[in-house]
Amino acid sequence: MTAKIIDGKAMSAAERRKIAEETAKLKSERGIVPGLAVIIVGNNPASEIYVRNKHKACIEVGFNSWIYRLNENASQDELNALIDRLNSDDNVHGILCQLPLPGGLSEEEVIDRISPEKDVDAFGMENVGRIMLGRYRFLPCTPAGIMLLLRESGIDIGGKRAVVIGRSNIVGKPMAMLLLNSDATVTVCHSKTVGLSEITREADIIVCAVGKADFLKGDMIKPGAVVIDVGMNRNEDGKLCGDVDFDSAANVASAITPIPGGVGPMTITMLLRNTLTAATHGL
Ligand code: NAP
Repeated sequence: MTAKIIDGKAMSAAERRKIAEETAKLKSERGIVPGLAVIIVGNNPASEIYVRNKHKACIEVGFNSWIYRLNENASQDELNALIDRLNSDDNVHGILCQLPLPGGLSEEEVIDRISPEKDVDAFGMENVGRIMLGRYRFLPCTPAGIMLLLRESGIDIGGKRAVVIGRSNIVGKPMAMLLLNSDATVTVCHSKTVGLSEITREADIIVCAVGKADFLKGDMIKPGAVVIDVGMNRNEDGKLCGDVDFDSAANVASAITPIPGGVGPMTITMLLRNTLTAATHGL
């Protein structure tokens, strides 16, 4: 293996320590405690784990954290009323609704109902528009975490050729915008892309967010490229694995994120950062 391992676990821990210090200062100097409200509808086991992890992370850095549970038969009106109540609660600085929602509920309606000032996932229309314009309030958590990993690893982005594989609203598209806004020349690939390997072999930086285990192989990577693996998949044995075939990729890349311990830990960290930003907004 030749690639340097980008240690997302250590970088995430360092960022959380900074957030905890800033939170303690905010509390002692201004009496403000950042607060995150998370809504979960129904009984999705994966969502339960994510929500528990977010709650634990909030408590560890000194935030208030509230979990609101609605049963899976909850109506859109009930959900909207809860969001309205949280939008007008001054102790709540960030709101998110854990997705996916049970059938019959509109994710779009929920996302756009959350006040843009409290939309700490940055999924709503106003915050997405701000990302397009480079006039950020909050950076979307997973792409923001990746930008921090690149920065902390001393990887220059300006003028580099970056390829993002995947064009989802939560990862691929905002990732491409953040790279573009950092002066990379960006290509976005997706399931209809023709000649993917030729495109990826030209990249200095590859961000792979496809959702298919071991999708990106070493022979699709230019020697010396930086490889960021966003995927969180389970193989046949139930083991967590990424979108990148780590062993073959690590023989070609100059730096690579592992699974686990790469991009994953950064996502909740950036959610904490956004909640702190929301709490200090206007101070
Ligand atoms: P998604 O919404 O399913 O999007 C997958 C993207 O991959 C789509 O744009 C799709 O193209 C593209 N794709 C599928 N097959 C392809 C192929 N053969 N060649 C090229 N592109 C292809 O997934 P997502 O939400 O972005 O998530 C991607 C992965 O990241 C998942 O494993 C997810 O679990 C993980 N994830 C991790 C974190 C984290 O915190 N670490 C956060 C979010 C997501 P089309 O648009 O043409 O269908």
